[in-house]
Amino acid sequence: MSLIEWVFPSRVTCMLCGREALTDARCLCADCAGRLSPPPEEPCPAALDGFAAGARFDAATAGAVHRMKYGDARYLAPFFASLIEVPADWRVDALTPVPLHKNKLRARGYNQSALIAYALAKRLGLPVEEELLVRARDTGSQTALDAALRTRNVAGAFLASPAAAGKRVLLVDDVRTTGATVCACAAALRAAGASGVYCVTALARGLEAGAAPRGRPDSRAAPTQISRPTHE
Ligand SMILES: [Zn+2]
Repeated sequence: MSLIEWVFPSRVTCMLCGREALTDARCLCADCAGRLSPPPEEPCPAALDGFAAGARFDAATAGAVHRMKYGDARYLAPFFASLIEVPADWRVDALTPVPLHKNKLRARGYNQSALIAYALAKRLGLPVEEELLVRARDTGSQTALDAALRTRNVAGAFLASPAAAGKRVLLVDDVRTTGATVCACAAALRAAGASGVYCVTALARGLEAGAAPRGRPDSRAAPTQISRPTHE
């Protein structure tokens, strides 16, 4: 550390806990850097040619992603993008974020997944093509839904542009819970002729961590039944 950085540290606000502290190159304090966990190892859904996440959605990361989504903390998007490593053997033509329904976009003022996509695209030197996907139906909150209901809830909710034909698309989302949303997006892109669909999310929730959904106390035993509060 240079003398000038020691006297006037340039990075002082931790991206995860928001405390003022000496931070590392990722802008994390020592506590948060130690608590950041690698993403859970889950099989890639069949709908995707590849899936990668930056870190695990857990107590260390949930607060920050919540602030980015609901607290106008748009400055966190480049941090979350910086967690994502895109495998070197993926061949991608363009990035596209999981879209919000236009009503939700109007209410929130921004799509946090698009902000992550733009930050990641800048690093990769690739274009973002937001118009490739639209959320044609407002699917509402998936918070109380288990995996099967989530899949049903988002089925057919997305429409892809004919501009997706022949393209290898990298879908970008903030949090993967069950994968129902990104798989519905992938189905729409493939129906429009996309030649490849990969997906990255800043955070991923371990499927094994799923708690029993309300009113479905038996579902914890079934590995495909997942319900956790979502950031849908
Ligand atoms: Zn921290």
